[in-house]
Amino acid sequence: METASPATEMLGRLIAFDTVSRNSNLDLIAYAQELLEKAGATSRLTYDADKRKANLFATIGPARDGGYVLSGHSDVVPVEGQDWSSDPFKADVRDSRLYGRGSADMKGFIAVALSLAPEFGRLELKRPLHFAFSFDEEVGCLGVRRLLEDLKTANIRPALAIIGEPTEMRIVAAHKSGSVIETMVRGREGHSSAPLRGASAVMILIGLSRIGQPTQKLLRDLKRPPEGANLLRISMMRRWTSYSTVLRRTNLQQSSRKRSTAY
Ligand SMILES: [Zn+2]
Repeated sequence: METASPATEMLGRLIAFDTVSRNSNLDLIAYAQELLEKAGATSRLTYDADKRKANLFATIGPARDGGYVLSGHSDVVPVEGQDWSSDPFKADVRDSRLYGRGSADMKGFIAVALSLAPEFGRLELKRPLHFAFSFDEEVGCLGVRRLLEDLKTANIRPALAIIGEPTEMRIVAAHKSGSVIETMVRGREGHSSAPLRGASAVMILIGLSRIGQPTQKLLRDLKRPPEGANLLRISMMRRWTSYSTVLRRTNLQQSSRKRSTAY
């Protein structure tokens, strides 16, 4: 039988911590902190307001400027309403693939970094090697801001960071940008028995959301959309009145991501 590599074993352990963003990540962080300290790292923690979640920043090697940061977020997206064929919080290897929530995004990278920590600890490093594991990335990169503030206060200045987001093993030099467009439509209220007397805000909105669709379709049909292409998606629609009336007011939220530069 194939024996699991240290990184795969580590990944199994990390997946077993249910760190969906709404939950605490303290158990995972404590586990990683202990492991890094055993490898000779010094570490610091920063917390959210309720102290339910923490960022971990740890350093192996000399306390001086420069060095690299191996950076990852500890939280994962929810699993509700998804058709999982195995327990999402138990790493399951099938046909040489490892299944589990966060296996790619991005506990896989953290597992590789942690499993190599003892080896890094034995090296005579000339520059520091840092580990940064943040909370609440999936809900708007909220946690890392505290970590960055703390680094600024402590005057810790690494040279660059390697962020272990899944990129299909390509080096990506910059992150996608994101923007949110909110459109509010006002129609005219009326009873649903006589829709022609009102002007449904939703119907207007559906029409509006089709603007630009031919371009979007062209972009989506391309294997690799050109750099800077805006890929739109409708992320939220909100209604303001009941089903029996022709809606007077509604909201549409579209978000777009500009494609990043990949090498
Ligand atoms: Zn991610």
